[in-house]
Amino acid sequence: MEFLRPTSLADALAAKAEHPDAVPIAGGTDVMVELNFDHRRPAALLDLNRVGELAEWTATPDGTRLGACVPYTRIIAELGDRLPGLAMASRTVGSPQIRNRGTVGGNLGASSPAGDTHPVLLATDATVEVASVRGTREIPIGEFYRGVKRNALEPDELITAVHLPEGTGPQQFSKVGTRNAMVIAVCSFGLALHPDGNRVGAGIGSAGPTPIRAVEAERFAAEELSWDSPKPLADAVARRFGELVATAATPIDDVRGTAAYRRHALSVLARRTLTWAWKDYARCA
Ligand SMILES: Cc1cc2nc3c(=O)[nH]c(=O)nc-3n(C[C@H](O)[C@H](O)[C@H](O)COP(=O)(O)OP(=O)(O)OC[C@H]3O[C@@H](n4cnc5c(N)ncnc54)[C@H](O)[C@@H]3O)c2cc1C
Repeated sequence: MEFLRPTSLADALAAKAEHPDAVPIAGGTDVMVELNFDHRRPAALLDLNRVGELAEWTATPDGTRLGACVPYTRIIAELGDRLPGLAMASRTVGSPQIRNRGTVGGNLGASSPAGDTHPVLLATDATVEVASVRGTREIPIGEFYRGVKRNALEPDELITAVHLPEGTGPQQFSKVGTRNAMVIAVCSFGLALHPDGNRVGAGIGSAGPTPIRAVEAERFAAEELSWDSPKPLADAVARRFGELVATAATPIDDVRGTAAYRRHALSVLARRTLTWAWKDYARCA
């Protein structure tokens, strides 16, 4: 197996153009599992760990540009204020060792519907920046996921960063698993309130072939919430929001849970996270 080790983004993109079949490796927490179990035997690995440009985050006029290879540990330590929802999701990933290595770029590259960052990326209107020797393009997160473990990347492209707009309201992430750590989500849910436009973002994980945006639930909550003079959240609104999130999911029965359980759990997660976020919003409004 060839092991390509570029030291700059330009060299990494040139290597990907020359070897479109080369499998990028960032933290390796997905790639190495596949190699160890012999699920994949690529002709070449493209190691991104020496590409400094991918391992930085920067403040932008609109929010944050998060380099694809910034590990979860740094998101938790450095970005809890700027990206609260993503930091919450990052805290639930694997174990300290996995969080030291694993990256959002890798979560996106794998595009597993169970990846923990996806619900938050959907709820916060993230954009995925991808690049090749042909140029750079930005893909709205809702257009990135294309099927089970499939995404919109072309063979010569790398994920270079994720752009997250500056949050204007509370964000939440919640996940159901058989235990608190080292567990793939049975289902997960990300929520963001966007008071600048009186909007709600709602993303579902591990309950469909791709991460899903709960569009009807978002519309319902946006209309029902008393943005200008916040009143306590009516129980009926929280429950209906939960029902609409459950309806948006398209889960299956598998070893981690039944479709019926996933729908039920999602309705609970949605109801709870909206209640927590709305309380935060009302307190600060
Ligand atoms: C024990 C264990 C526990 C885990 N727990 C969780 C969990 O709780 N939640 C969760 O979501 N995940 C979990 N994972 C999965 C994994 O840690 C995450 O998906 C992580 O985000 C992968 O990041 P990485 O940098 O290690 O990716 P890698 O393994 O390096 O790559 C993953 C995929 O993305 C591609 N890729 C990586 N970087 C790029 C790039 N810049 N451009 C294009 N393609 C790229 C790779 O080719 C590969 O297909 C766990 C894994 C293990 C082994």
